[in-house]
Amino acid sequence: MPAQSMDALVALAKRRGFIFPSSDIYGGLQGVYDYGPLGVELKNNLKAAWWRAMVFERDDVEGLDAAVLTNRTTLKYSGHEDTFTDPMVDCRECKSRWRADHLEGDKCPSCGSTDLTEPRPFNLMFKTGVGPIADDENFAYLRPETAQAIFTNFKNVVDATSRKPPFGIAQIGKAFRNEITPRNFIFRVREFEQMELEFFVPPGTDEQWHTDWVEERLTWWEDQGVPRDRIELLHVPADELAHYSKATVDLMYHFPHGVEELEGIANRTDFDLGSHTKNQADLGIQAKVKENTESNARLAVQDPDTNAWQVPFVIEPSAGVDRGVLAVLNEAYKVETLENGSERTLLSLKPHLSPIKVAVLPLKRNHEGIVAKARGIKQMLQALGLGRILYENTGNIGKGYRRHDEVGTPLCVTVDFQTIEEDDSVTVRDRDTMAQQRVPVAELAEFVKKALQA
Ligand code: ATP
Repeated sequence: MPAQSMDALVALAKRRGFIFPSSDIYGGLQGVYDYGPLGVELKNNLKAAWWRAMVFERDDVEGLDAAVLTNRTTLKYSGHEDTFTDPMVDCRECKSRWRADHLEGDKCPSCGSTDLTEPRPFNLMFKTGVGPIADDENFAYLRPETAQAIFTNFKNVVDATSRKPPFGIAQIGKAFRNEITPRNFIFRVREFEQMELEFFVPPGTDEQWHTDWVEERLTWWEDQGVPRDRIELLHVPADELAHYSKATVDLMYHFPHGVEELEGIANRTDFDLGSHTKNQADLGIQAKVKENTESNARLAVQDPDTNAWQVPFVIEPSAGVDRGVLAVLNEAYKVETLENGSERTLLSLKPHLSPIKVAVLPLKRNHEGIVAKARGIKQMLQALGLGRILYENTGNIGKGYRRHDEVGTPLCVTVDFQTIEEDDSVTVRDRDTMAQQRVPVAELAEFVKKALQA
């Protein structure tokens, strides 16, 4: 069973150094978290798995790493200035503010009063001054999604790579939303990361691609240890669709606090490329947001046979890194009762996500021969390029095993007297089965490689 309570995950995350409240020593900053020594590894591993699947293993996707600071005009024509809002209500009694669509029974969650204002739109974008003159005109936005820079770079990427639809542009990076009520640990935060693919397809093929991408993404989550039967598909009702979407399928995961969105897969049509295109009428597209006169681009492709210009449709699988980390931790977290009645906490992470792949433990802290041998084994394993291999000299093997179970290290390698005095073999202990076996050092690299592929 996955972790039953968010509290258990929050406690583990802090105790073992996965995730800390940001600005912790000053009482934190609401809706902002920092990733600690193990959290940064887990998060990087999840992002690398996404990049591998999206970019390296396909031949129809290019990568991009665009800036966070975004020209205001981009977010004007994308529709975000006008419509990227959540409905906010104020409690007249205790002065707290809430997202209207998250209230239960039209009551203030803080004081229970029903004396609430009418909902009014609250724009979620963060503004920041750019340059030495800070005024109402000189500002940029911190991007609320990574997607827009993919659209504004569309022509640059097409010109540089000669790509033609169907093809995609992938990006991983920070996004910022001034959420009215951040909550549920790293589920709803104000600074987070997204893994977004904008997949450009010929109009008319968009619905099939949309269906295919939902399947692709479910398979990918399964590969990260988040099984299909823990995800529900929500076909977002027409009146709740984002301003750019013709159809959206949300992957709703069973988080500890409830079933909520892990990833959204939207059919964004030709909305964004159309909106950012100069002289939309020439391309036969309706003005998307307002009449567009400010961009200098034609974000379209030309049919090689007819020379006609066409604005591709876009399918967008957009996943949250932080929500992904939370789902992966939740699935991996287990408390087992052992035969002797004691309990062990275990993170059964897929090996490719584990922050530490192998811990190398010398049996005796101060024994020169054992310590030197263990260091050598660490270096040998590290050179395989499998991820982080940790040499850890605490002298307490039992405690080491328990700690590494709790942080999801798939293998522990113990170096002892038998290693240096008898047969140059080590004990390899498996996290999931707790089985221990002797492996000759000469065969250790192959053994570890094979075990981590599982
Ligand atoms: P929600 O309805 O939960 O606010 P959304 O529909 O606004 O989410 P999208 O705009 O579809 O979210 O963003 C794509 C993905 O980015 C989401 O599926 C989620 O994983 C992630 N995401 C969005 N907002 C946040 C946030 N405040 N904190 C963490 N992740 C987020």
